[in-house]
Amino acid sequence: MAQVWTIQKLLDWMVGRFTEEKIDSPRLSAELILSSVLQMERIQLYTHFDKEVEKPQLGKLHELVKRCLQNEPVQYLTGKCEFYSLSLKVAPACLIPRPETELLVERAIEFLRGRAGKQYVCDLCTGCGCVAAAIAKNFPEAKVIATDICDKALSIAAENIKKHNLSERVELLQGDLFAPIISRLDVKEFDLIVCNPPYVSAAEYEKLDAKVKNYEPKTALDGGADGLDVYRRIAAQTGGYLKKDGALILEIGYLQGQAVKKLLEESNCFSPIKIEKDFSNNDRIVTAVKS
Ligand code: GLN
Repeated sequence: MAQVWTIQKLLDWMVGRFTEEKIDSPRLSAELILSSVLQMERIQLYTHFDKEVEKPQLGKLHELVKRCLQNEPVQYLTGKCEFYSLSLKVAPACLIPRPETELLVERAIEFLRGRAGKQYVCDLCTGCGCVAAAIAKNFPEAKVIATDICDKALSIAAENIKKHNLSERVELLQGDLFAPIISRLDVKEFDLIVCNPPYVSAAEYEKLDAKVKNYEPKTALDGGADGLDVYRRIAAQTGGYLKKDGALILEIGYLQGQAVKKLLEESNCFSPIKIEKDFSNNDRIVTAVKS
């Protein structure tokens, strides 16, 4: 008689395979993949341990397990990612949101809470829209314009903005940094500009984990020879789009604190400029106020 595959048996099998092949977080990965195939919440796996999984679903599951064993990120396999307590759609056209980027959102929201009235926010290099969505969701007075050069990423962002009912307050525009804003007569100066740009240097790019390098979009990671290309352009352009006392908050690579601070100082637009560490004690966030 053919083997009956229950949820419990499948989880045990997946955890075993993922552990053997040194896949990150074997149990979590197994639960995320299985719950996605069965269209159940993770918690429901535990309340349906003995449920038999049918053939077509087993086929789909095998396919995803195989891809996971080849190091494809689980978030691309399930098409989902949690960011700042929001469930977001992700796909290979956009970077998978990182937990470090939640710190950027945290600082952005704190800055906005210190100001009165409606706040105009610009999110550059929005990708799947994670930063724009998290700010808008948690700060109802924010009106956000988010731009990205990649229209495929923007269509994912559009789904996320719609899913979280933020279409009235988050506008998505395709183009390079501030380029799509130039033609806008209504918003020219922002209270806050945020950006998690591509910042990986050419040397670091070569050494990236296969999981990142083989699957995530190079345009979302590659910051040029020294990783600072986009910061140079942001430092040169941002002053013109920020209100006096408005802030620029950037995510940076762990070795880029001093270099990004220097670029911003050289633009003669900002004071003070502060570098902040993330939970791994790496430089991660730069906040610069327009003087
Ligand atoms: N933190 C990302 C990584 O380590 C890089 C993100 C970025 O370039 N904005 O892969």
